[in-house]
Amino acid sequence: MVTAGIGDGRGIVHVNGVQTRPAAQKFPYYLAGLLRCSCGRCMTPASAKSGQYHYYQCTDGINCRHRVNAAELQDAVWEVLSKVHYSEEFLKGARDGINAERLKLADNIRPQLAAVRKTLKGVREEQKQLTGLFLSGIVTADNKDHFNSKLAEINLRIQNYEEQEQALLNALTAATTDAAEELEQLVIGMTNMQQNLAKVRGDSALLRNFATTYIQKSPASMIQRGRWL
Ligand SMILES: [Zn+2]
Repeated sequence: MVTAGIGDGRGIVHVNGVQTRPAAQKFPYYLAGLLRCSCGRCMTPASAKSGQYHYYQCTDGINCRHRVNAAELQDAVWEVLSKVHYSEEFLKGARDGINAERLKLADNIRPQLAAVRKTLKGVREEQKQLTGLFLSGIVTADNKDHFNSKLAEINLRIQNYEEQEQALLNALTAATTDAAEELEQLVIGMTNMQQNLAKVRGDSALLRNFATTYIQKSPASMIQRGRWL
């Protein structure tokens, strides 16, 4: 039985007359999985002294053994996140940059799409001719297996090229979509976060979301994934 209120000021509570430490407080490691050590490996949450100290430490615990104080690191990250601001000029630059990249990609996709369509047209022509043979009387009970397997093979090729065509069309659509809309969503999200900074600071899930969004989607990442270390 834990008697509430009988702390002795040193963080020690008494359970059935026996002194025990309170259960290690759960530390909000909201950057778990997002950090990379200077050696290139991932960093993972760790604690020491019965949960009194909290770290992010390198997963190479033999050679590198690098670790950083989790609270200090998260404070530093918070400083950066709470000051993130996208100026109009920055956004325009990012938008133009993304659009230029996409146009380049689209220019690369178009000839591939044309080549696939040309091949597909040829194979469909083959299919048509072969189907014609079935109607012409050349295909008999004796040789029908041969023609049927040829037709099956052509149908498979057509299916394959149609899938390639669709994949390229999808990529082309993505490449020709204006970056403005995507950026707008990002900015709206960041603005909402910033207007609620006080709330965000105490909410690990939101902070993690904030950090992840910033690290992964920032169009011209001022902070690259893991560069905080
Ligand atoms: Zn390391």
